[in-house]
Amino acid sequence: MADKKVRTRYAPSPTGSMHVGNLRTALYEFLVAKSQGGDFVLRIEDTDRERYVEGAVDIIYKTLKEAGITHDEGPDIGGEHGPYVQSERKDMYLPYAQRLIDEGKAYRCFCSKERLEGLQQESVGGGYDRHCRDIPKEESDALAASGAPFVIRQKMPLDGSTTFEDAVYGSITVENSELQDQILIKTDGYPTYNFANVIDDHTMGITHVVRGSEYLSSTPKYNLLYEAFGWDIPTYIHLPLIMGKDEDGGVSKLSKRHGSTSFEDLSREGYLPEAIINYIALLGWCPKDNQEIFTMDELIKAFSIDGISKSPAIFDYDKLEWFNAEYIKAMTPEQFLETARPYLTQALGDSGLDLSKVAAILQQRVTVLTQIPDMVGFLAKQPEYDKELFVNKKSKTTLENAPQLLRMSYDALSALKSWDHDSIHDCLISLAAENGLKNGTVMWPARIAVSGKAVTPGGAIEILEILGKEESLGRMKKGLEKLS
Ligand code: GLU
Repeated sequence: MADKKVRTRYAPSPTGSMHVGNLRTALYEFLVAKSQGGDFVLRIEDTDRERYVEGAVDIIYKTLKEAGITHDEGPDIGGEHGPYVQSERKDMYLPYAQRLIDEGKAYRCFCSKERLEGLQQESVGGGYDRHCRDIPKEESDALAASGAPFVIRQKMPLDGSTTFEDAVYGSITVENSELQDQILIKTDGYPTYNFANVIDDHTMGITHVVRGSEYLSSTPKYNLLYEAFGWDIPTYIHLPLIMGKDEDGGVSKLSKRHGSTSFEDLSREGYLPEAIINYIALLGWCPKDNQEIFTMDELIKAFSIDGISKSPAIFDYDKLEWFNAEYIKAMTPEQFLETARPYLTQALGDSGLDLSKVAAILQQRVTVLTQIPDMVGFLAKQPEYDKELFVNKKSKTTLENAPQLLRMSYDALSALKSWDHDSIHDCLISLAAENGLKNGTVMWPARIAVSGKAVTPGGAIEILEILGKEESLGRMKKGLEKLS
């Protein structure tokens, strides 16, 4: 196997939006392949029609694209191992099952639904009692030819054990006596998931299978199929569960009550795709050094399977927010303006304000994009505020000195000929100096009067500049009236 080209596959079932656990599987499949110069394949597993959700395939394409996880082969781009949609492969499986019947490794089971249900109630040996396993070949062929419905089951070894190596969990052994004679083909002629995924992985030349640890217990069954066919078993990489922090301090499997759990929802909430991917990459994989911020190319270079941990990963929304803030800060001002524009427009509409200036005061302060409208809304419309806001201990402002301080700024700013950052800055700074005041003592009342908020992105100077002279002086005048 060593000299085979590495091929991995992401095999989602189109059942809705993409959970971060699935996205992590996709990312690691991609990274396992790309870090070794291999190919990454997308296969849509849509045979479970009951769980099929209309539109879910498009969400898969869209999510992978936004996340920067690009496949080399798949339903939309083709490839030499197609078709890549399981329902389009449905005629491929039966001949493989037939081959196992011919070789005495599988058999037709004619048991009725009622008989099987009865077995479950009596709970004989915990499942199917292998009733049809030894029906003579002629009899079985004749029954099938007569139109009797049947499923095809695999003959599991009756004794011994099956051991396999998982790249993350190590060596795992199960007693064969615990394994059911699993169904490979259902009465309708279509394969079970367990059968189809083995046939698909083999015929697509998959060398590494990355999937959630919930598949660990099925893996011996898959391996017995590979062995029955005499095929190479792929390298298994099972990933630990992703947990969320509970309110009581404990942890449990990540679910909606912990917060958003799908890529779609997180991105709607204002997290950048790059930040989500960067964070998810580290949910279960640890780089050799302490680097935290990774571009996709850097991930590809740094990734190695032995860095994957088997202990459950904890999805920490605060940490995700930290990554998001780092990605926002690292953008160019132009990039940030474009990213922030929908949120700025939502809050500022046709206020005519210079959005690039607004973006400039936000970029170092925003941690999640959806915070933007609330942070800047005051620029479009000043909120009602309480005059107590003028009181600030650190700036040494009180209800007694605020009117006079604000009046001084108002007069000085009114006299300004040009209204730009430097003029406003120089004006207010010299005002403070001339009167022997701290800068903050002059800035605080001015900022409160123009914003009506205790906390604003940007200080008095930036806000004055963005609002323009007329609006600023109008707001200061109202502040004076409020204080009088
Ligand atoms: N279709 C399966 C799922 O979405 C894929 C499991 C696998 O990777 O084999 O869970």
